[in-house]
Amino acid sequence: MDEPSFFAPGQLVSVVTTQPIDRFLDYKAPEGGVFQGAFVQVPLGPRQVPGVVWGPGKGDFDYSKIRPVTKVLDVAPMRDEMREFLVRAGDYTLTPMSAMLRLATRAPGLSDPPSMQKVYRLGETEPERMTDARRRVLEVLRDYGGLSFTLKELSEMAGVSSGVVKGLVEQGAVREEKAPRDTPYPPLDVERHGKALTEAQATAAAKLAEGIRTGGYGTTLLRGVTGSGKTEVYLEAVAACLAAGRQALVLLPEIALSEQFLIRVEQRFGAKPVEWHSGVTMTERRRAWKMIGQGQAELVVGARSSLFLPFRDLGLIVVDEEHDTSYKQEDGVLYNARDMAVLRASITGARVVLASATPSLETWANADAGKYDRVDLDARFGAAVLPEMRTLDMRNEQMQPGTWISPSLAHAVRQRIETGEQALLFLNRRGYAPVTICRACGEQIACDHCDARMVEHRFLKRLVCHQCGETKPIPEACPSCEVEGRLAPVGPGVERLGEEVAGLFPEARVAVLSSDLFTSARALKAAIAEIAEGGADIIIGTQLVAKGHNFPKLTLVGVIDADLGLQGSDLRAAERTFQLMRQVAGRAGRAEAAGEAILQTYQPEHPVIRAILTGDEEAFWKAEAEGRRAAGMPPYGRLAAVILSATEAETAFRAGQDLARRTGPLDRVSAQVFGPAPAPIARIRGRHRVRMLVKADKGVALQGAMAQWVAQLRADKDLRVAVDIDPQSF
Ligand code: ADP
Ligand code: ZN
Repeated sequence: MDEPSFFAPGQLVSVVTTQPIDRFLDYKAPEGGVFQGAFVQVPLGPRQVPGVVWGPGKGDFDYSKIRPVTKVLDVAPMRDEMREFLVRAGDYTLTPMSAMLRLATRAPGLSDPPSMQKVYRLGETEPERMTDARRRVLEVLRDYGGLSFTLKELSEMAGVSSGVVKGLVEQGAVREEKAPRDTPYPPLDVERHGKALTEAQATAAAKLAEGIRTGGYGTTLLRGVTGSGKTEVYLEAVAACLAAGRQALVLLPEIALSEQFLIRVEQRFGAKPVEWHSGVTMTERRRAWKMIGQGQAELVVGARSSLFLPFRDLGLIVVDEEHDTSYKQEDGVLYNARDMAVLRASITGARVVLASATPSLETWANADAGKYDRVDLDARFGAAVLPEMRTLDMRNEQMQPGTWISPSLAHAVRQRIETGEQALLFLNRRGYAPVTICRACGEQIACDHCDARMVEHRFLKRLVCHQCGETKPIPEACPSCEVEGRLAPVGPGVERLGEEVAGLFPEARVAVLSSDLFTSARALKAAIAEIAEGGADIIIGTQLVAKGHNFPKLTLVGVIDADLGLQGSDLRAAERTFQLMRQVAGRAGRAEAAGEAILQTYQPEHPVIRAILTGDEEAFWKAEAEGRRAAGMPPYGRLAAVILSATEAETAFRAGQDLARRTGPLDRVSAQVFGPAPAPIARIRGRHRVRMLVKADKGVALQGAMAQWVAQLRADKDLRVAVDIDPQSF
């Protein structure tokens, strides 16, 4: 790579700031000069704001009035490839640079001096009296050569109390020092051997490692049923990447998953990777950010925002559960982390592994077209076999009103409990009941700010809006007709299902896994670990449990309502239901015991339900692909959406109609416009939302046309405009 340009003191530089202004601003390079890419603090009006030196200044302003850069921050400058990534990701998602820069500077306190902490390293003398505990401490310090650790790290690693370390300090055998909090991470040991792989796994791992040795960009779909060893296999790719001296990143869709993953990495490489997600403390983030930039953090596991970390030499990005919809950021900058991973890798010259049991149609199509390589793992590891799947035709079941577990499903659950196995009842609905209705007047309690019903959460003793999070107490009287005592829950949520289970199986230990029942990610992790150890007989869960947890004793999965996802007009409904059902069913029978999955349905002959049963994925994807191709829909056509929102419905609609009349820029690329129509959720947080959908051919340069089109909107204080390229629902 070329040396970054250097700007001598007084030379003009162009700076991007994180402030929402879409111009780059000129400043004078400070005393001592500054490198291109440097993180700086600059004056903006009366304030000091963070920014990055992007290049030479334009100089179209009176030189004497231009102010100097206030200070250059003590972190490695942003690399050229990162700047290119931000530019291209911004162009793709039609996001201004300032907003992109905010993604890349999430490390808090970037501008603060490093905070100091006490660290401990090997001293010169031997302690007078040697104990086992003391020996373990000294061994840890010797093992890691010159590295220093915090008291907590050191005592944990050595398995001793902090008093033991303190004792060694008094003896001079351990040195206590002050150091900036940015201590390096313990190195991963790539020489260690992983599990002995099966032949199929070894072949898959060799293909991935081969790609890494060849170097350069390339994407591989790693497809394999749950439990086939995808994680084992891609950890081998990570090992190959680290052995080549490059950094690796593993993206996970769910923070709660990361705990099991951290443990697996520790087993494989002898130390934990660096974590990056919203649950990581500020101090740790600052340390991670800096170490990653210096190339001293080898492996990062994180949420989608870790794509914007300043890796020094990124060689591999793994996107686990690549089909997961949570990879699409739905707030602020609308990007899909899976697609951005591919973009970043193609700029950096890194490999991408997209792992999934049920890939997204987009990825399947890219592999089908030869744009991605594809590696398949078809069998489950060891004795574990795929669960047997069957439907329960609910039309033939004797159901009591207000119950959702059919006698046949209850029977199957009872059998599992009797043999000491676990059963999972899956219902993708949080809370107690999705609807609260007044039996006197028929009113359904809705959110005051959104076009959504309030969901009763009995555990919280409140009604909650799942769109905006607004809560209110459960009223005694109907807010509409004011009649008391006639409000009634309608339909099941996981909490209500919990009551039904308690009634059916009073002796069973029941665990309800739903994100809102836990006060912290830590509490959730603990609950999951306890269940994995056998601490529950029946697990009731939302889609939280569908994702990659490993419950060895789980042998029965009962899907309460397999038809739930098939309702609605979303074209992706079939794909989503197929993925979710296969994923949930995959939880059963991972170890020695055979698994079974039962789907309660009112439409057993629905093609999607049939495809779930036969598990003939290729046939399912082909049929889906045909449908999408015929309709010119993604991935065979392009879609973009514009969401116009305003506190007055009228404002949003008028803006939409205005756009609908001025489609010139879109006509030039033969794109079709639909709308304005109420957005899928027509009101959120008191703002009315109107959507315009744009559909174009695959090869079209849609972003430029979209930008020109939207730019015609007249500025209006009340109006907000968000462009969503590749919207998730359509
Ligand atoms: P996937 O990621 O495809 O769901 P995992 O990699 O999590 O599959 O493997 C499923 C289970 O089987 C895990 O507990 C894993 O440790 C175990 N496993 C997979 N392959 C092997 C192997 N070759 N040797 C020992 N255990 C294995
Ligand atoms: Zn609301």
